Amino acid sequence: MLLRALFILSSATTPTFALPVGTTNQNATLGSTVHIINIPDISSQACNTKQPSQELKNTHKALRDNPHLHPRTTQQIQVNVYSHFVTTFDQAYHYPPNVRKNLIGKQIDALNAAYQSANIAFAPKTTSYTVRDDWATDANSTNMKNSLRQGGYADLNIYFQTNLSSAPYRYSPASTLLGYCTLPTNMTYPNGHGGLTEFPPYDYATDGCNVLAASMPQSPVKVYGYDLGKTAVHEVGHWFGLLHTFQDNTCDPSDPGDFMNDTPQESISTSGCPTGKNSCPNRAGYDPINNYMDYSTDECYTQFTPDQQARMISMYNLYRQNE
Ligand SMILES: [Zn+2]
Repeated sequence: MLLRALFILSSATTPTFALPVGTTNQNATLGSTVHIINIPDISSQACNTKQPSQELKNTHKALRDNPHLHPRTTQQIQVNVYSHFVTTFDQAYHYPPNVRKNLIGKQIDALNAAYQSANIAFAPKTTSYTVRDDWATDANSTNMKNSLRQGGYADLNIYFQTNLSSAPYRYSPASTLLGYCTLPTNMTYPNGHGGLTEFPPYDYATDGCNVLAASMPQSPVKVYGYDLGKTAVHEVGHWFGLLHTFQDNTCDPSDPGDFMNDTPQESISTSGCPTGKNSCPNRAGYDPINNYMDYSTDECYTQFTPDQQARMISMYNLYRQNE
């Protein structure tokens, strides 16, 4: 489980999203009030990223060293997307059916725009809507996913949660995450007859991405700087197997980092959208601040590199396709 974690709420006693630092605008499109959440101290952002498994790192290394093993195909990969909108009772009034439908549509559009260069397309399937406090705060994620998850291991489930905040055992109740996602893992085993058998759906029930609903494009509740739907783009990159561009937070030449040859090494994740950031001055290239797998603000996120694009296809073929 990977976390792209940002503290965006400042007080446990403050009603969620009703922040004094926020401003209020009129949303002409939807005719509703827009609440903007500011991140009070971006330097305090933290990511309790669970390290990738050795198996996944071995796969990355093998694909990096032998890209011909899984050459890119010219055929587009199409991924089914099951969207789940989960809100607390308090926040539900922000998201009437027309708003929810618009948000999910715009979010799928943002995903398709970002992944077009990788020849990956997202096909929206069903959506679900749940009003339930413990699910919307991510206090009961496994239970939520056991109930809501659809499709197979090849299919993407995204849970848009209004109060993705509790991150049990990691943060105080006052903090809120932007999202987190599961990395792919091997979901087949040799069946003794020369083939492979897939694990039953129960074994990957938690697979998918959790995304703060306020990060969706045109959300009536916005996270300042993170409101163009790029959080989901980042998280889905993990779902395909990509690691952070600052993986391991080191400039050590012997460290494989994110196992990409075309993302300059960086030792510090990026905040905002700085120019000239170079956290590994003795290594080639400036920090990849525009890369979707860094931590920059949404406006700064503009690219996957060719290696990342190819790796996502390879990882999908290896771990998820037809499962
Ligand atoms: Zn991440």
